[in-house]
Amino acid sequence: MEQLIESILIYSFAAILCIVVVAIYLRKKKRESKIVDEKIKKAKEDGLHEPISLHPVVDINSCIATGACVAACPEHDILGIRNGKATIINASQCIGHGACFHACPTEAISLRIGTEKRGVELPHVNQTFETNVPGIFIAGELGGMGLIKNSVEQGKQAVENIVKSIKNNHNASYDLIIIGAGPAGISGSLMAKKHGLKFLLLEQDTLGGTVFTFPRKKIVMTSPMDLPLFGKIKLYETSKTELLDLWQTVLKKNNITVNENSKVDSIISEDEIFKVVTLKGDQHTSATVLLAIGRRGTPRKLNIPGEMKEKVAYRLLEPEAISSKHVIVVGGGDSAVESALLLADQNHVILSYRNEVFNRIKPQNSMALNKAVAEGRIEVRLSSNLLSIEDDTVILSVGKEGENLTLKNDLVYIFAGGELPTQFLEKAGIKITKKFGETVLKH
Ligand SMILES: Cc1cc2nc3c(=O)[nH]c(=O)nc-3n(C[C@H](O)[C@H](O)[C@H](O)COP(=O)(O)OP(=O)(O)OC[C@H]3O[C@@H](n4cnc5c(N)ncnc54)[C@H](O)[C@@H]3O)c2cc1C
Ligand code: SF4
Repeated sequence: MEQLIESILIYSFAAILCIVVVAIYLRKKKRESKIVDEKIKKAKEDGLHEPISLHPVVDINSCIATGACVAACPEHDILGIRNGKATIINASQCIGHGACFHACPTEAISLRIGTEKRGVELPHVNQTFETNVPGIFIAGELGGMGLIKNSVEQGKQAVENIVKSIKNNHNASYDLIIIGAGPAGISGSLMAKKHGLKFLLLEQDTLGGTVFTFPRKKIVMTSPMDLPLFGKIKLYETSKTELLDLWQTVLKKNNITVNENSKVDSIISEDEIFKVVTLKGDQHTSATVLLAIGRRGTPRKLNIPGEMKEKVAYRLLEPEAISSKHVIVVGGGDSAVESALLLADQNHVILSYRNEVFNRIKPQNSMALNKAVAEGRIEVRLSSNLLSIEDDTVILSVGKEGENLTLKNDLVYIFAGGELPTQFLEKAGIKITKKFGETVLKH
């Protein structure tokens, strides 16, 4: 009898202990779900919940809520766990690393581009990176997949396919013309060199592509990648300068010249070869063309009087070198806000945005901006439009009534987005399709 009572007590104690542990666990999960709910609510209010371009999609039937995707994502609060399943929070902030895709042990994540409501324009490319125009290939972000590592990988693969497609007896001056010297164009040209192709690398601006436009202090997140004629680059976090130095060194070592300030204006298909014409009027012929021109296109201009003045810029390169200036930054996206914040410590900065609220910026930028405004380091002018730029002043129209203010000014930075190279592509005969929620990476 005594033994029976003892057993009942032990089992009861074990059962109570199990119930307590489960209850604590469920309570913790409920609390975490509530936090995620609040973050989703905030993301919706801030206009950051809906995806813009690439974003993860969770198959809730396969998801077992390990949290591996949340832990793997280097960005902040893109994904969270709610009610035992992974869910998206700030989907518009996803920059398409794909770390979540690779981390999920049950393969419940896929990457999609655009949504049913919001389409993303992409050129037509097949699995060998060739467009609908035989001989013209596309690599890098222009094809829809962002990030340095992906662009490097695609530049390499595209040129490997190009090598197989070039006819021995073509009568063009070059085997290949690569347009764009960003990560995709750089790795493409190294691969072309490796295969002994006769090629030309044309760049409208400067070596480095979008990376060249990063602020000097930006931490560049990447993952190990294989660069032709160099080998493995084992970098996870690096700086713009380190990356640019590395590319410069490897190109120099392999005698590859980047023809800078050579914007390609058109590609004309003639007798199975291509005539590539630059804005300066240079003409080159090639058997094949690799477009590695990214998606940033050309910075959008405001088309206002005075915009041609030297004090106007469309990117901020050396914020630390600018001090004691009256600066106006125009735009409402992350680039505008980040640039205004970088300039604020040493200058008098006005941030002008035509809308009533900043609804497209990252939460951390939003917090930093509010703090800078509260501390009087930045003056924000919402519902405002820059009307004209004079030598020492600018004229800003503010408010619904459009009151015109003349403000002292030394420098103007415009971040009004970019004009996609759609027209350029269409002129070359490349088909563009709008992707409404198409899966680009799945298991
Ligand atoms: C603010 C910001 C932060 C980012 N942070 C990271 C990060 O931390 N890690 C990461 O991996 N990725 C990051 N990215 C993404 C990364 O920069 C891009 O995915 C990558 O640079 C794309 O490489 P690409 O070679 O395809 O194109 P790009 O780097 O855009 O290069 C395209 C090149 O083509 C040139 N070009 C365009 N049109 C013409 C023409 N008609 N004639 C001649 N040349 C032309 C351009 O001038 C440019 O140099 C970031 C992007 C931005 C905007
Ligand atoms: S794709 Fe990258 S940025 Fe987007 S959620 Fe996954 S890990 Fe985060």
